[in-house]
Amino acid sequence: MSSSIIDFIATEARFGAQNYAPIGVVLSRGEGVWVWDTDGNRYLDCLSAYSAVSQGHCHPKILAAMVEQAHRLTLTSRAFHNDQLALFYEEIAALTGSHKVLPMNSGAEAVESAIKSVRKWGYEVKGVPDGQAEIIVCANNFHGRTLGIVGFSTDPETHGHFGPFAPGFKIIPFGDAAALEQAITPNTVAFLVEPIQGEAGVVIPPAGYFTKVRELCTANNVMLVLDEIQTGLGRTGKLLAEQHEGIEADVTLLGKALSGGFYPVSAVLSNNDVLGTLRPGQHGSTFGGNPLACAVARAAMRVLVEEGMIENAARQGARFLEGLKDIRANTIREVRGRGLMLAVELHPEAGRARRYCEALQGKGILAKDTHEQTIRIAPPLVITSDQVDWALERLATTLTQDFS
Ligand SMILES: *Cc1c(COP(=O)(O)O)cnc(C)c1O
Repeated sequence: MSSSIIDFIATEARFGAQNYAPIGVVLSRGEGVWVWDTDGNRYLDCLSAYSAVSQGHCHPKILAAMVEQAHRLTLTSRAFHNDQLALFYEEIAALTGSHKVLPMNSGAEAVESAIKSVRKWGYEVKGVPDGQAEIIVCANNFHGRTLGIVGFSTDPETHGHFGPFAPGFKIIPFGDAAALEQAITPNTVAFLVEPIQGEAGVVIPPAGYFTKVRELCTANNVMLVLDEIQTGLGRTGKLLAEQHEGIEADVTLLGKALSGGFYPVSAVLSNNDVLGTLRPGQHGSTFGGNPLACAVARAAMRVLVEEGMIENAARQGARFLEGLKDIRANTIREVRGRGLMLAVELHPEAGRARRYCEALQGKGILAKDTHEQTIRIAPPLVITSDQVDWALERLATTLTQDFS
């Protein structure tokens, strides 16, 4: 349908809550790294739905698994067993080396579920007095949009006028192990942190930070909860970003690419007795662990490994970062990234990142600004060298333009 028949953007604006400010493009089809708008223009997707379509748009094997399962059985609720959940558990545990799995839907639900679980663990295993559990989080975090989560966000846009909020969270600077050491008390049950802060603008902590964090958490019997919803499943060139420092979290959160973008699927993975504290009736989700979600997630994990997407993310990410570093433009303040989680931070005088993203759209690249000055670049993990080079050419011409 052509955009002249229905004005999609105006109709969205008329009826929709205005909680997003999308780039002015209306997409109607996707395949691999490419998406097409309603007028048939093609774009390289450099956002990948915030890393949810890491496997590429409409991956044929995930699609086939989804369609096949949708014909057989979609939802049983957890009141009954289904013939997909056990296989999903087995495969995700084998892939990530976890012992226990709690299936949920959105990323925020996985975070909420982890918060509930570590608190319960704190009271029942660690022996924290009831109601006193503390969880340490980082400034500039992004863990989702529920009330529990936005209450410990430091971004005024995220939490402003949504209170009152739940107590029990302590905020420390990201990348500062000494601050963690100081913040831990006998009532600390967990440290919840992103391996790389994605929404904050792809902020990579100093080398050795997570090694120290792991030591501090172990020494103080504090659960290390890594939110790998964005960094996980190959995005940074390793299955999990924790592997860059050779550590293991006690609790790992996955979402986004766990379904290859077909369907909301998230999971809490735990290495120890954290999830073991949950008893029947204490936590749940109507859709969590449903057979359609499990079939989709199983296929999404399988293609990630079988098709070498994690190795490709490392290889193409290195090529992309090198290429970005080679761009000589005085608009650029810094380029950074790990694997295919990349960012170009602009000088304040260069104008807002949004302008550059709009210019990129005109050249066939869809990217999204974050925090005014940063262009985030995170294409699907199936991107080829030629496609990386194609994107770099267009980024170079755009970034040497002056929009200030
Ligand atoms: C996207 C994201 C979430 C929230 O996931 P939703 O599915 O949007 O609820 C949580 N943590 C991180 C690090 C994310 O990137």
